[in-house]
Amino acid sequence: MTICVLQELANTFNQLLQQLEEQFEREKSFVSNASHELRTPLTSFRGHLNLIKRWGKNDPAVLETSIQALDDESNRMKHILEQMLTIARNEHLETTPEKVNLSEIVEGVIAQFEARSRVPISANLEQNVLVSGDREQLRQVAVIIVENAERYTKEGKVTVLLKEAENTVMLSISDTGIGIPREEIPKIFSRFYRVDKNRSRETGGTGLGLSIAKEIVENHQGKIEVESEEAVGSTFTVVLPVISG
Ligand code: ADP
Repeated sequence: MTICVLQELANTFNQLLQQLEEQFEREKSFVSNASHELRTPLTSFRGHLNLIKRWGKNDPAVLETSIQALDDESNRMKHILEQMLTIARNEHLETTPEKVNLSEIVEGVIAQFEARSRVPISANLEQNVLVSGDREQLRQVAVIIVENAERYTKEGKVTVLLKEAENTVMLSISDTGIGIPREEIPKIFSRFYRVDKNRSRETGGTGLGLSIAKEIVENHQGKIEVESEEAVGSTFTVVLPVISG
């Protein structure tokens, strides 16, 4: 009997150690990725600062270009830091789920993007679709996916659908953009992963958005599915459990 208990204790202890080790490895790689991502804009920032110091005082063209570059790079760093803060905040956030109207949330996000989107956004939203969760986090999910759809679409349109079907709520966001190569699809939800680093960086991407969205959706007992074809477009579908009433 005692041996059994001891054996069980040893097993639990081993599992705990393994989990801690895995978490430590994840955090180590997160810190090293984050440092790398921040170092790139910081290096460019310092380069332009040096240009201004050396030539900028006498050359208005250098001054103008470098000030614009400093502005862009500092915005980039701000965006990366904000997303890292979101990750840290979500990890420690204990939320009490409430009944939220997903239709209103998605409507708000579309209105926010419509004003500045390069491509038209068309929406077909069932009214009063209710889910249980955190309003702000669910809004973040919609923002991340709509922002990506717009970011990776040059021509065509973005279509947002929201409906209830068989005890689930489906929010699907389709675009007619660049699409994602089949072999890359499983990787796009990893932190800092981008299919095309340069293009994503140019358009303001950090490689963190989808990892944040996936974490939030899974915390809401849901899942995200992707269908995509290169040069045709992508559809991201968020499936959440429905609540009635
Ligand atoms: P990023 O900030 O770089 O957009 P995400 O985590 O949101 O980071 O997305 C990861 C990668 O997945 C992007 O860099 C991009 O290559 C790809 N991706 C995401 N959404 C789309 C989309 N709608 N169309 C094409 N590629 C996409």
